[in-house]
Amino acid sequence: MTAQLIDGNALSKQLRTEVAQRASALKAQGVTPGLAVVLVGDNPASQVYVRNKVKACEDSGLHSVLEKYAADMSEADLLARVDALNNDPSIHGILVQLPLPAHIDAQKVIEAISPLKDVDGFHIASAGALMTGMPGFWPCTPYGCMKMLESIGYDLKGKHAVVIGRSNIVGKPMALMLLQKNATVTICHSGTQNLKAQTLQADVIVAAVGKRNVLTADMVKPGAVVLDVGMNRNDEGKLCGDVDFEGVRQVASHITPVPGGVGPMTITMLLVNTLEAAERAAAGA
Ligand code: NAP
Repeated sequence: MTAQLIDGNALSKQLRTEVAQRASALKAQGVTPGLAVVLVGDNPASQVYVRNKVKACEDSGLHSVLEKYAADMSEADLLARVDALNNDPSIHGILVQLPLPAHIDAQKVIEAISPLKDVDGFHIASAGALMTGMPGFWPCTPYGCMKMLESIGYDLKGKHAVVIGRSNIVGKPMALMLLQKNATVTICHSGTQNLKAQTLQADVIVAAVGKRNVLTADMVKPGAVVLDVGMNRNDEGKLCGDVDFEGVRQVASHITPVPGGVGPMTITMLLVNTLEAAERAAAGA
């Protein structure tokens, strides 16, 4: 079996076209969806990420502002900026790029963002909403994974999903989203004994670890769907995921590539969340 690719670029293009259409309908009502991206310091990777996010907004007709601050910005000044953005009616989504410099308490800053504008979905209120099935914003990366499963018409009901990784931004919310769609979910982590015994049971595997070749072909049940969230560099310095792509694609039914898989979907779901925040604000929600 050679797995079918789930193409994150193609799906993103389709979803971003829908975002642009909905944004233009909202603009006709006098509301332009707006995202504020806040960057503190000069982390090179963060600079690329924020540039990509701002460009994605522009391409889809969303208003965006990029606020850049020096690495020695105080926590109090950053909290004051977040507060100002919370009260700015032209801004519907606020994203503070992580990591923040060590002297700033990142969790405190995230909790300062209004849950109504928490388009990254990292606020405790957003996590609570996801856990309880209430309306809120879902973290973009696992949300993108769910859209990828939806795009292949995959019915999760009764299926066994194994999530490798339990971070607050990927693994745990991923598991909750799969559970919400009636999968039976196992969460694995660095303390899991015999990972292979777990993954071999899985109809769906999400790898979100940050280590190359965490998932190899011998660990995958024939026909399983494999989503690769990992972002690593191989020996040649090229971007690669957590999954041994060439091996696993011979066993899986569907697989996401790296690059061109989950990565583009993450930014796309940020646009979706921002649009959603603007639609809710326009509806007075
Ligand atoms: P993280 O916070 O470092 O979490 C990694 C998780 O993997 C932890 O729960 C850890 O377990 C677990 N783990 C480590 N070694 C393991 C092993 N040998 N077997 C099983 N589990 C193991 O990372 P993250 O933020 O979730 O990100 C994970 C990966 O996704 C990274 O490569 C990151 O760059 C990538 N990522 C990609 C996107 C995208 O848009 N494509 C977005 C976000 C993240 P413990 O909890 O026990 O330590």
